[in-house]
Amino acid sequence: MITRRKTRKIYVGPVAVGGDAPISIQSMTSVPTVDVKAVLNQLHRLEEVGCDIVRLGIPDEASAYAVGEIKKHTSLPLVADIHFDYRLALICIQQGIDGLRLNPGNIRQREHVETVVKACKERRIPIRIGVNSGSIDRSRYPHPTAEALVDSALRHIQILEELDFFDIKVSLKSSDVPTMVEAYRLFATQRDYPLHLGVTEAGPLSQALIKSGIGIGSLLLDGIGDTLRVSITGDNLEDEIEAARIILRSLGLRKEGIEIISCPTCARKEFDVARTVELFQQKTRHIREYLRVAIMGCVVNGPGEALESDIGIAIGKSSAIVIENGQKTSLKIPNPTPEAIATVLVKEIEKRLHH
Ligand code: SF4
Repeated sequence: MITRRKTRKIYVGPVAVGGDAPISIQSMTSVPTVDVKAVLNQLHRLEEVGCDIVRLGIPDEASAYAVGEIKKHTSLPLVADIHFDYRLALICIQQGIDGLRLNPGNIRQREHVETVVKACKERRIPIRIGVNSGSIDRSRYPHPTAEALVDSALRHIQILEELDFFDIKVSLKSSDVPTMVEAYRLFATQRDYPLHLGVTEAGPLSQALIKSGIGIGSLLLDGIGDTLRVSITGDNLEDEIEAARIILRSLGLRKEGIEIISCPTCARKEFDVARTVELFQQKTRHIREYLRVAIMGCVVNGPGEALESDIGIAIGKSSAIVIENGQKTSLKIPNPTPEAIATVLVKEIEKRLHH
């Protein structure tokens, strides 16, 4: 059982982050923010798969003004990602943004920071301080070590604290997993602001999944982390959300979706388990309720695993046994095919969920 670190609670729109709030899942759009139609399309995809908060890059004024139109058509809380230019922050605030990602130390003039902070206070908009190994000030920190990331974050934080602003969340991302883990652990000893976890520039799909699983997972096991993003190169929005959900589910922190227990298959396999799992996964991706479903490829070890699941199936050459809540059911599927098995399992799940 993981005991979560106690953090301050902030709100990004209606979504609570920190305190006793469930760990939220974030992503970021990958199309130009001025292309409102393309942004809305990605927001719709993200909403469908259960994303909680979405970040938009704001490179120029036109993007900042587009926020107003985007906000009219989505209920997802939006965070504006802004570098250096305080005016973009002010426009986004006017346009109804729910959060900013902005490092105040990168805004040269103090009064500009004060103007942004005043506007955030008035509208209760939080600011994420996002320190990154790639963009850390190299004149101050020759190497992006964990200490450098934390020190850099604390400098930005101090500016906000001096202005009496505490609706802060913090990220300390690195593409190097041990550095990222160490930085968050170190920061957790310094301040109680909620933490946004992530491995930055994590790379293509398989590498990103493993690096994020290790980095984010290690911290969550320590009880550290209030919101997270699994970043994957390219247009992999659904994969990002699914990966985040699997990380949280594997640690028992947020039980959602279908957890598939399927065997790797071996010489004893009597059935095409891989195809069955693939079909079953396609048919159940949309389900948010949590269920543990075992799909096992033979009747030797299969029933054992199936007994531990909400619903399980052990598939032999000429028949398949369905097990529910640890009991064999009378349901038998003679001469099974992957399609038939997937269909029966989906029907059993639907019956269960609609009861
Ligand atoms: S369940 Fe059966 S087929 Fe699957 S790995 Fe175990 S022994 Fe092999």
